[in-house]
Amino acid sequence: MHEMALCQGMLELIDVQRQKDGFERVRRIIVEVGALGHVDPHALRFAFDVSAADTVAANAELDIREIPGRGWCMDCSREIAVEKRGDGCPHCGSFTLIMQQGEELRLKELEVV
Ligand SMILES: [Zn+2]
Repeated sequence: MHEMALCQGMLELIDVQRQKDGFERVRRIIVEVGALGHVDPHALRFAFDVSAADTVAANAELDIREIPGRGWCMDCSREIAVEKRGDGCPHCGSFTLIMQQGEELRLKELEVV
């Protein structure tokens, strides 16, 4: 389950942040997940609960925000928003698209105490 690896990475980031800021607990974590990625929010939540159990982020609320993917339409020659994998261009309906998936998961904000 690759959500587990993503959570480990996220917890490492949180730990780096903790060493810098010296907070004691994480209350809320806002993460952005690209809609075109392979991250399943339910699996992510589960993986997070398991891997954060003995860390400063234990019991933190995981706020998952799905962000639309972005791609490039070869026919319109412009950047387009892609809601989900397999969708065509919202302007011309073309499927000649280059997906610019970006990062699958991004730690956006930490609420700490
Ligand atoms: Zn197009």
